[in-house]
Amino acid sequence: MTLSQQGPSHADLSQVFDVLVIGGGITGVGVAREAAGRGLRTLLVDRGDFGGGTSAATTKYIHGGIRYLEQYDFKVVRESLRERRILALGAPHLVRQTQFIMPAWRWSKPPRALIGAGVALYDVLSYDRNRRAPDALRIPHPRWLSRKQLMRSVPWLDTDGLQGGFAYHDTLNMHPERLLLAYVKSAAADGAVFLTHTEVTGFIQHSDRGNVVIDGVTARDVLGGVGYTLRARVVVNAAGPWIDRVLQPLGRPLGVAVNRSKGVHVLTRPLGGPGRVDAAVFARAKSGKHVIVSPWMGGSFIGPTDTPLADDSAPVVADNDDVSSILSTVNSTMNASEQALTIDDVVGATVGLRPLIRRGEQGDGGNTYSASRRHELYHHLDRGVANLWSIGGGKWTTARATGEQMVDELLRHELKGTTTRRFDSERSGTSTTFAWAQDAAPFLTGVASAGSALGLDAATGEHLGRLYGTEYAAIIGLIGATPSLAERITTEHGCLDVLAQAVYAVTAEGARTLSDVIDRRLVVGTLGPVSRSVIGRVADTVGPLLGWDDTRCRNEADAEFARRSALELLWRDPVVSTG
Ligand SMILES: Cc1cc2nc3c(=O)[nH]c(=O)nc-3n(C[C@H](O)[C@H](O)[C@H](O)COP(=O)(O)OP(=O)(O)OC[C@H]3O[C@@H](n4cnc5c(N)ncnc54)[C@H](O)[C@@H]3O)c2cc1C
Repeated sequence: MTLSQQGPSHADLSQVFDVLVIGGGITGVGVAREAAGRGLRTLLVDRGDFGGGTSAATTKYIHGGIRYLEQYDFKVVRESLRERRILALGAPHLVRQTQFIMPAWRWSKPPRALIGAGVALYDVLSYDRNRRAPDALRIPHPRWLSRKQLMRSVPWLDTDGLQGGFAYHDTLNMHPERLLLAYVKSAAADGAVFLTHTEVTGFIQHSDRGNVVIDGVTARDVLGGVGYTLRARVVVNAAGPWIDRVLQPLGRPLGVAVNRSKGVHVLTRPLGGPGRVDAAVFARAKSGKHVIVSPWMGGSFIGPTDTPLADDSAPVVADNDDVSSILSTVNSTMNASEQALTIDDVVGATVGLRPLIRRGEQGDGGNTYSASRRHELYHHLDRGVANLWSIGGGKWTTARATGEQMVDELLRHELKGTTTRRFDSERSGTSTTFAWAQDAAPFLTGVASAGSALGLDAATGEHLGRLYGTEYAAIIGLIGATPSLAERITTEHGCLDVLAQAVYAVTAEGARTLSDVIDRRLVVGTLGPVSRSVIGRVADTVGPLLGWDDTRCRNEADAEFARRSALELLWRDPVVSTG
């Protein structure tokens, strides 16, 4: 299923929807997918692009959250482990089981015995992890690696006081933005309507017996300026870190408070050397800070930071302090013989805001690191506002379950009695998944051989199979019709994207800006700097499809290059960063 290039029609938007979802991150998309799957007329509105808030900027794991065991958050961990299996079986081409190694040093806090107890408990809580899993997705029991074994697997680790490490598994979400998009397409296939780059600015409401009754929202297309009045029987506010902001136009306290915590990652040269380490390392430094070093796309993806956002009106950007903090933490876990990472080894940085539930009006004393990652559903009828819910907190991993619980609640309350159809999101995969609970390797080999008929190399074919699932055929079809679209989008950091993907991004995947294309449809934007000439090539390819003339193509490319360069300068240059 594709998203129409023209966007929804006036007729689409003038209906009264059953459910209107605010927010196209993974939480809102989880709700939309569940609602549309059950046959509810569903509209989702986002002020930016799908996943452009937080959901495309994660650590890239579908995981139980072993760290949350320290907070005794067993419920979150168990729910996440349950969802880890469901999400992996539903999209085997976009995930990869990854071995994690948690090193133990003599000085480690918690000490080796406690780490071991945590890893064992994590294993117990994931008792159903291999149910119906093909071999490629099976997760073994954790095991202890001796110091010698560990030094062989992860040669860059500090050996001073090293006792060994625990090896366990979690699931790599290879391209979170693409998996999120696959869920969007699934919802669209079930009739959901999507409006991106459209900001919700207020609520349509009337009064009834002392209650405010919500009838829909007002919204504005931030690219074209068009205003909308959008009606629905119930509105779900899934704006993640901004749920409190969305509620502000109602002008009354609704008991929703959010702690926003900034999380940054960097992509660097591969620690230990190219292709040398294939396990992720979850290391706790002497400072108490933890860092996850994941082998990803030929480099090391390292983070996250966890910094409470003091001034939440300021733009959310990765700055030089964030990057320096990651580098000093990871360097402090490295062997003296390993060359320390410097800013020159960093090719890119990502930033997201955690939407954490705030306990009580005073908050949690600012400790976002130990704050629970649970989610909460707020029914605002409790505070005199009917037909409105908000979703607080949550994780990427648990968004499917959150969506399911949310729609169950809607059907118990506002949508009670509405005819629905059966939908099992646990067993549905995505609309572009080649098969549920199957090994992806044969599928990817098949895509590679289909691509080779058009001159694509095997790696490119596999890349297309991973990113597009069954829709790879559409990309290959574009290249078949216009061979020049096989042109590689090259960067100095290596990239397998081809121009046909840019065409598909705007004609079938709802991309409306160059950043939508480069950062969340293609992979190129996630791999490091993108040159002005590459941006220009993409602009010249998609511009005519978006109705841009030559001047507009040039201006858009200039603006996108300037935007990216300014963001890079903020984390690369300490002077710019500190202003
Ligand atoms: C650094 C970091 C690493 C993480 N790593 C992981 C991980 O590995 N695994 C995991 O499971 N979880 C992880 N998480 C948590 C996870 O990413 C988040 O819980 C999740 O992405 C939140 O999704 P969301 O949809 O609630 O919010 P968002 O993705 O932020 O979506 C909210 C959307 O609301 C939109 N919006 C806001 N205001 C309006 C408005 N007025 N009108 C219309 N739209 C509006 C925004 O544009 C945005 O797209 C991580 C989080 C961070 C920050």
